[in-house]
Amino acid sequence: TRSTAEWRALDAAHALHPFTDYKALAAEGSRIITRADGVYLWDSEGTRILDGMAGLWCVNAGYGRRELVDAAARQMTALPYYNLFFKTATPPAIELARKLVELTPAGLNHVFFTNSGSEANDTVIRMVRQYWALEDQPERRVIIGRHNGYHGSTVAATAMGGMGAMRRQGGLPLPDFEHIREPNRLRYGPDQSPEDFGRAAAGWLEEAIQAIGPGRVAAFIGEPIQGAGGLIVPPPGYWAEIQRICANHGILLIADEVICGFGRTGRWFGSQTFDIRPDIMTLAKGLSSGYLPIAAVMVGDRVSRTLIDKGGEFIHGFTYSGHPTACAVALENISILEREGLVDRVREDIGPFLMERLEGLRDHPLVGEVRGKGLMAGVELIRDKDQHSFFAPVGRVGTRCRDHCFSNNVVIRAVEDTMVMAPPLIITRDQIETMVDTLARALDRTQRDLPRLMSS
Ligand code: PMP
Repeated sequence: TRSTAEWRALDAAHALHPFTDYKALAAEGSRIITRADGVYLWDSEGTRILDGMAGLWCVNAGYGRRELVDAAARQMTALPYYNLFFKTATPPAIELARKLVELTPAGLNHVFFTNSGSEANDTVIRMVRQYWALEDQPERRVIIGRHNGYHGSTVAATAMGGMGAMRRQGGLPLPDFEHIREPNRLRYGPDQSPEDFGRAAAGWLEEAIQAIGPGRVAAFIGEPIQGAGGLIVPPPGYWAEIQRICANHGILLIADEVICGFGRTGRWFGSQTFDIRPDIMTLAKGLSSGYLPIAAVMVGDRVSRTLIDKGGEFIHGFTYSGHPTACAVALENISILEREGLVDRVREDIGPFLMERLEGLRDHPLVGEVRGKGLMAGVELIRDKDQHSFFAPVGRVGTRCRDHCFSNNVVIRAVEDTMVMAPPLIITRDQIETMVDTLARALDRTQRDLPRLMSS
């Protein structure tokens, strides 16, 4: 094995890291993660790190699950790989599809497997366009998303997302994608009641539809709770009104459950937490707890009937769609969540405990808002509470706070100036105390750093 210095030098020599500031990486070098168990990671120096982000919101069942290793080994021994292209199927893909139909809200009766959330959302774009073409309304092409919404990194998923800088990179944006503001009350409606703000924020969808022309709009996409786009918890009434507006105009409703799915919000899916009845749902991450790459598009009867009865052929798919080993691991992962009652635990016990602990940070001068549901929480930082002013440039203060957490061996993410937590669903109360205490100390340190941070 190599020394940490050797790993770092090799990494710096060859790797182009995703979503990474290369200058900062070159200055600091990467932290080499070598093993994990439960909610903990270990780096190459043997330091233990509490993973408050479950990897990238995905390791819901926690690390070190022997059952998942065994499931993969059994399937790899019997049949490591085969595909669904030649009018062929494999038992794990069949069983996983059945299980997902059972778990997801009623009516989502068909499944298309992909390898990543990006590919799942990319598949949805093609599916939605195909649907409207088969319905003899090919002019319905526009998909409406939300500012700062993240739906993946393929070219089309990036266009559907609302991340400003990302959308402007590399010949983007593509045509026929529009965006409305995300329902961030701290930013856009601090003087409104949550209910009034919920109505107003959903009204932005109606305004956009009228501006585009209702006959041109194909679909609306959103995460039940917007994750990488700022941990935005929908205000009361928001989704009911979005749902009503979509139904009124015949627009398809797509729920991106890549983060919210598999217990994160305290129900199997965020759509259940917020009573959303989507036509299409995308799943990834927690589907396999990140042990192997697999994702899925769940398709409701309205779309599947058209695709199957009128379409004949969906000219789309990936070599690894329905990869049997990934499906076997996903099945075993779901069965762990069921056996251990982890979803109920998030809703009834550990989720409320996390929120209660975070509420204790509300009076900190840097804390503008504490929000979340289940084990998905955000603490948005603010420059001045009385003046309601935010930090500029955005993200610098959040990043500093994140770095303080990480140097104290706790992973808490900064999305711009919102500190985000999404730990494995098995996290204990003691571990939550450690995570929140570390964040509290990091906030104090960041507060002390402000004069220097703001002048540099
Ligand atoms: N949708 C959402 C809401 C996500 O958070 C992500 C990943 N962070 C994706 C889609 C893309 O998934 P993947 O990285 O597996 O392509």
